[in-house]
Amino acid sequence: MKVLVINCGSSSLKYQLINMDNESVLAKGLVERIGIEGSILTQKVEGRDKYIIQQPMKDHKDAIKLVLNALVDKVNGVINDMSEISAVGHRVVHGGEKYASSVLIDDVVMKSLEECVKLAPLHNPPNIIGINACKELMPSTPMVAVFDTAFHQTMPEEAYMYALPYDYYTDYGIRKYGFHGTSHKYVASKAAEAMGKDIKDLNIITCHLGNGSSVTAIKGGVSIDTSMGFTPLEGLAMGTRSGNIDPAIVSFLVKELNVSVEEVSDILNKKSGVLGISGVSSDFRDIEDAAAEGNKRAQLALDLFNYKVKQYVGAYAATLGGVDCIVFTAGLGENSPETREAICHGLEFLGAKLDTAKNKVRGKLTQINTDDSKVCIFTIPTDEEMMIAKDTMEIVSHK
Ligand code: ADP
Repeated sequence: MKVLVINCGSSSLKYQLINMDNESVLAKGLVERIGIEGSILTQKVEGRDKYIIQQPMKDHKDAIKLVLNALVDKVNGVINDMSEISAVGHRVVHGGEKYASSVLIDDVVMKSLEECVKLAPLHNPPNIIGINACKELMPSTPMVAVFDTAFHQTMPEEAYMYALPYDYYTDYGIRKYGFHGTSHKYVASKAAEAMGKDIKDLNIITCHLGNGSSVTAIKGGVSIDTSMGFTPLEGLAMGTRSGNIDPAIVSFLVKELNVSVEEVSDILNKKSGVLGISGVSSDFRDIEDAAAEGNKRAQLALDLFNYKVKQYVGAYAATLGGVDCIVFTAGLGENSPETREAICHGLEFLGAKLDTAKNKVRGKLTQINTDDSKVCIFTIPTDEEMMIAKDTMEIVSHK
């Protein structure tokens, strides 16, 4: 069975066509600048040159048309006909409280996705546009929605409730939802597999550290707390997001800068985090380079980021009542030995000892703790697309 995985952003679209018979990626691609000048599609197929199409794409339907054309292209494609695509799996950011697992998309599901727009105004609309565009172009192909929030629906009430008037939860759905669920679930299961243990017997802390970052406490295979909240702004300091701050800062800034609440929200989401502290970049590679050249604010940004991750690891060790395994994943977690070392430094009291030689690794599943460490430490490449494809296949096969 071949599954097309689609991850639609506001002006970009990532896709992968996966052959589930042997779990191999047939093609992967990225469409950028949808609806703006300079639209471009880049498709990669193992062992071949990149296939690039530059032509105007006025909307996501145009983009998906082009993706399908690229996949069936006589020279650069990987399938003969669109009918070879058995199902489409869509990444959807917010499923609210309705979805604790992936779901076959029908009219009822589409209605609830619309209802979730209020909760994720930046993310859900492009996801919905992508699904509608695919439905128009492939009306008889089954489609599945895989939610970033679903894995965290197992959190207990005391973890997901905010200490606000209770009615705000019942009337407006204000609670912690958590994100990156597909990634946390995937790397936790890979870690259990690598340890040769049943995930039901393990306490795992997963650190998804990329542009957006979150830490999750996983007990017996289910999420019991996570650092992102009502929106992906809560928790760690990130590329451009502030993470946790004193909420009183918002009204202070509104008055002091004489700006609207929306402008402050924009500052917290787009101008803060390691970008705001360093003044250099939101990309950790640039910040690491600047710090190495002696830029003190760049070093502070790295120190602050690592400190916050370490705090969550400590907090979640308490939440879990002990930890068997810590996992690092995503762009930074997979590729920055320095970050992993700084976070693990001082965690020896938990029984977690990093082996600095084994830690000198990028982008491949590796156990990086010392032989006498009580806690297993791993770096594991995340693969949200494969997870989405697996869920999609399972749901479509049982429909
Ligand atoms: P997202 O999916 O949230 O956009 P990624 O998981 O792709 O982000 O992570 C992107 C981040 O990973 C970049 O900001 C970059 O700083 C970091 N990163 C990628 N490779 C490296 C590397 N070799 N060293 C340090 N940081 C890296």
